[in-house]
Amino acid sequence: MASSVLAQPSAAAAPANPYITAQRQFDQAASILELDPGLRAVLREVRREFTVNFPVRMDDGRIRVFTGYRIQHNLTRGPAKGGIRYHPQVSLDEVKALAMWMTWKCAVTNLPFGGAKGGVICDPALLTPRELENLTRRFASEISLLIGPESDIPAPDVNTNQQTMAWIMDTISMEKGYSVPATVTGKPLSIGGSQGRPAATGRGVMVITLEACGRLGWDPAECSVAIQGFGNVGSVSADLLNSEGFKVVAVSDVFGGIYNPQGLDVPALLAHQAKVGRVAGFAGATQEISNTALLELPVTILVPAALENQFSLENAGRIQAKLIVEAANGPTTPEADDIFQQRGVVVVPDILANAGGVTVSYFEWVQDLQSFFWEESEINARLTRIMQRAYQQVDELATQHRTTLRMGAYCLAVKRVADATAVRGIYP
Ligand code: NAD
Repeated sequence: MASSVLAQPSAAAAPANPYITAQRQFDQAASILELDPGLRAVLREVRREFTVNFPVRMDDGRIRVFTGYRIQHNLTRGPAKGGIRYHPQVSLDEVKALAMWMTWKCAVTNLPFGGAKGGVICDPALLTPRELENLTRRFASEISLLIGPESDIPAPDVNTNQQTMAWIMDTISMEKGYSVPATVTGKPLSIGGSQGRPAATGRGVMVITLEACGRLGWDPAECSVAIQGFGNVGSVSADLLNSEGFKVVAVSDVFGGIYNPQGLDVPALLAHQAKVGRVAGFAGATQEISNTALLELPVTILVPAALENQFSLENAGRIQAKLIVEAANGPTTPEADDIFQQRGVVVVPDILANAGGVTVSYFEWVQDLQSFFWEESEINARLTRIMQRAYQQVDELATQHRTTLRMGAYCLAVKRVADATAVRGIYP
């Protein structure tokens, strides 16, 4: 490392409530669509909120009680679909927002799913592997009232992975007495996972970034990219964007970030991260930077791939990127969105940009139901087609309504769900 440049974290205002953000976004789209007030009332709330307080035996023999949630926002177009997150900051409102965003994401890509999300308030870094397995199995058992191939299908999210999904699938299968692989997606291949699923969200981010650059007339070789978050989504996005000729100059994780204005050697960085578990200390970087500083770097493209509320009233005016591709869910507050629109910063919204994961989750579910598995090349080709078509439809609606890509995506999604709700009618 040649030098160390650290921007100070700003004096933080209280972070925006993600559910209020999600409802404000929905309200804006409902107004553009002149949605019927009754439908509007139905769609701006989640349908089911399920809270569980459950005991887990720790390795030292103590019993600890954890709180978890499974929320289903909408089931009109098919079973609910959405990940499970383990994080100390998980809250009911965060999970409600993530569930609502899942409904719109599945509708933007026209997948036959509704939206759901789950979370457990915990710090997995402080749990042993056995404690994590106990927690996962007990949480799966608690939410088994809701989940299953026909009703609600979880997948990985922040701090959960293939192993987590394998434990959930096994728990549900043990309770049933037979294997139910289609109960979760993002599983290991050996138990009905899909080729291409681990990389799917990052692959979708790459496809969408190429589409956006194509519309803007940009050459990838001329574009520098900074990526916040180097987990499943961020690291694959970095790898695939690098392969497409973009210059990845900065990345970060929860421990901090690294920067090299000449471009990072991404394959070497992936090897470094796999070895030491963080990006800091990578020999190919010229500076260590904070997460705050990473967002404000002079780059062409910014890819937030960590958590919500990264762009707010406080920092939106200082963002120098011309294009933001939201790999994370909910990184932009409505106030920041307004500032980006005024400043001409193009934002590809989360419900489009990170929909690659749920798209291949859909393929995994279909393969499990049919017990018939596809080649990775076929999966990647289908994923690319779905993402490109969704981008095109969103772009057309944004142009038609003279609005942002976020509102274009919302108009497409909300109309699909509203039409399905109207034609089904209100029970009874
Ligand atoms: P992950 O747990 O694999 O990785 C999260 C990354 O963010 C890690 O590198 C972590 O160190 C970093 N991070 C955590 N807190 C941070 C902070 N305060 N500042 C900077 N970095 C921080 O999670 P993931 O699956 O890659 O998910 C990342 C985002 O993408 C989330 O918003 C998630 O909801 C969204 N997403 C994930 C998928 C998926 O298929 N996994 C699909 C769609 C959307």
